[in-house]
Amino acid sequence: MKTFVYIDHFKGEVQPASWEALGLAKSLGTASTVIFGSGVDAITKTAFEYGADEVLAADDAALADFRAEPYASTLSTLATSRSPDLILFPMTARTRELAAMTAVDLNTGVLTDVTALEVNGKGIVVTRPIYEGKLLEKAVCSGKPVLATIRGRAFPKPEPDASRSGTATNVEVQANALTEVQGYSASESAVNLGDAGVIVSGGRGVSNNPSLQPPAGMDEKQAELWRAQQGFALITELANVLGGAVGASRAAVDGGYIPYSHQVGQTGKVVTPDLYIACGISGAIQHLVGMRNAKLVVAINKDSDAPIFKQARYGVVGDLFQIVPALTEAFRKKLGK
Ligand SMILES: Cc1cc2nc3c(=O)[nH]c(=O)nc-3n(C[C@H](O)[C@H](O)[C@H](O)COP(=O)(O)OP(=O)(O)OC[C@H]3O[C@@H](n4cnc5c(N)ncnc54)[C@H](O)[C@@H]3O)c2cc1C
Repeated sequence: MKTFVYIDHFKGEVQPASWEALGLAKSLGTASTVIFGSGVDAITKTAFEYGADEVLAADDAALADFRAEPYASTLSTLATSRSPDLILFPMTARTRELAAMTAVDLNTGVLTDVTALEVNGKGIVVTRPIYEGKLLEKAVCSGKPVLATIRGRAFPKPEPDASRSGTATNVEVQANALTEVQGYSASESAVNLGDAGVIVSGGRGVSNNPSLQPPAGMDEKQAELWRAQQGFALITELANVLGGAVGASRAAVDGGYIPYSHQVGQTGKVVTPDLYIACGISGAIQHLVGMRNAKLVVAINKDSDAPIFKQARYGVVGDLFQIVPALTEAFRKKLGK
């Protein structure tokens, strides 16, 4: 099996699922990594360390900024000349556009959000969650090459080997584009829950600490927000000690406690961390569909009947305002932080 692995990066910072895709490709046969951009030597070096058999690099000022037209055109020209069986992409906002456009150019299809892949008598068969993760679907693509975007953290990342090296093969660049990137501005609340190994999430319960006295002069809503800030400060501290990210339920987001980019669930992000700690979250089905594939779920809730406990391996029935700081302290000691 000859596989291309598209390495997705922003200004040299590679999306970790790119290396997971490379590990998958290596398990299937020959893996050629495809790297586009301007000044990509460092990524080329890393690709060899992660096990690439070959690096195909389009290193050109015209590709400095991601734009779907020149990227798709360069990739489809390359695929036409080298005929891979499969092109893997880490699933990101950029690759969603790139894979779709490349598939149109190559007159084939894209299998998105893949969490497992096998090659059998039917060809390349992928598994992917559908209906908000309630069902797993097996799907094939009759076109060639097969294009597939893989979900982050669904496949193991290979161990890099610093002794591996190689030289990139230059790829012809198709620089035609109608669009131009005029600049970037960082989103204030950018949070990457998809790549997080640990997520500590807060729900409506983070504002429920009547013993916390807000500053004088606040009305009821202001007092609720102020309490939620104290609650999320505790959650953020625990996440920091564990090197993790902060998530939230929709009730916390709708309540204005935390920006939407932190929301986990049906209308938020679908996450697959190794550890998910749910604090003051009841466990509504719309929340569960976003986190039920976490490897280990811990729930902290005052209500012993909260549905989240059915999803949790470990549950603590208690007040998060006592339990979370105690956990933070215990982890701090254990991890020497
Ligand atoms: C179409 C649709 C899409 C939706 N999408 C999403 C989504 O993407 N994500 C999502 O999360 N929800 C989503 N929802 C909302 C979902 O149905 C629930 O309303 C929401 O998840 C509830 O959030 P919560 O658990 O934080 O709040 P609640 O259900 O109010 O639960 C709060 C919990 O905190 C506990 N608690 C209170 N105080 C404390 C304390 N001091 N210490 C410990 N525990 C405490 C309570 O016992 C309770 O269990 C969606 C709903 C719809 C209809």
